[in-house]
Amino acid sequence: MNVPLLDLQAQYATIKDKVQAAVGAVFESQRFVLGAQGAALEEEIARHCGAAFGVGVASGTDALLLSLRALGVGAGDGVVTVPFTFFATAGAVVNLGARPFFVDIEPVGYGMDPDRLASFLEGECRPDTAARCVVHKASGATIRAVLPVHLYGQCADMDPILEVARRYGLPVVEDACQAIGADYKGKKAGALGDLGCFSFFPSKNLGGAGDGGMVVTSDRGLADRVRLLRGHGAHARYFHDIVGFNSRLDELQAAVLRVKLPYLDEWSEGRRRNAAAYGEDFRAAGLLDVLQLPEVLPGRSHIFHQYVIRAERRDELQAFLREGGIGTEVYYPVPLHEQECFRGLGYGADDFPRSRAASRSTLALPVYPELSAEQRRWVVDRIARFYRGAA
Ligand SMILES: *Cc1c(COP(=O)(O)O)cnc(C)c1O
Repeated sequence: MNVPLLDLQAQYATIKDKVQAAVGAVFESQRFVLGAQGAALEEEIARHCGAAFGVGVASGTDALLLSLRALGVGAGDGVVTVPFTFFATAGAVVNLGARPFFVDIEPVGYGMDPDRLASFLEGECRPDTAARCVVHKASGATIRAVLPVHLYGQCADMDPILEVARRYGLPVVEDACQAIGADYKGKKAGALGDLGCFSFFPSKNLGGAGDGGMVVTSDRGLADRVRLLRGHGAHARYFHDIVGFNSRLDELQAAVLRVKLPYLDEWSEGRRRNAAAYGEDFRAAGLLDVLQLPEVLPGRSHIFHQYVIRAERRDELQAFLREGGIGTEVYYPVPLHEQECFRGLGYGADDFPRSRAASRSTLALPVYPELSAEQRRWVVDRIARFYRGAA
């Protein structure tokens, strides 16, 4: 049996006619950038997550870049984030000339630990009351923002993160690229902080036919700023207030995403059902002594962008599953503080033990909504066989 990590063909088969009609309509219009599809999608995504405004951009990475830039992040500044995330989270910070400062993740779950955030700001920074900002003592960098990540589809613990950030006057940008539709205490990912960033990369829960992203916010000033930044800083064509970027979500992407958005909640529900079924199967197979299953933490819902277990002998297990035709992935094998390109930041490998431990033991299993019960059981059987030598 073949069980890919993600099967986009299966999804496409269910919406093919609608996607092709939507794409055809864009071609008929011959309007490819900043048209009606993009504007409609901005409204629909904003409404879906409960934010007032959406601004379509070229990717999730650019959503981060433009959000931070809209907050004034630039050379000599610092942004506090986590080392256990996709590279773009910190890459966006560095591409603005700023420096990422890492704090470790929660003991259970994979979001920023609010206590670590508090101890970083309290212990390693000093308030500059005259400038109403926080300065990192050792480097002199002005801390400008906090950037938590809702990894795998579950929100970071946003209430205490927001509380700590507000105490220091710091805005919060959510990297919600993996968490579109996830709830935190009745509110949705992206609408919890000052700005939220989504990615429409094809493999995300809401994936386009190429790169795409969106910034959401309920602050009109910030929305206007991001809109300005995505179009070379021009408020009207050829009149440039600031130097911005070329980062738009094109009409073809928007049209495809508008076909898919009405299915998103149903698809996420399918992922949740598969996650729950895995839980029962692993329990029944008596594997809970060698596997740690993903936990849905209090007050949060999980959209299972990834279903990630912690496994003993992870790499061997992955190779064994590959032989059985099962696709898995390690998100992420090297935490950012151990990346070659960030050596200059001066971190040691042991500085963030929870992130390091996660990078050594996490394994994502197939959880896409179209996964059949038979395929799921094959995954569980192979894992049982790996640890017990029998299925
Ligand atoms: C996918 C992703 C991004 C980047 O999105 P792109 O659209 O690929 O640029 C950023 N952060 C996280 C956590 C992601 O998963």
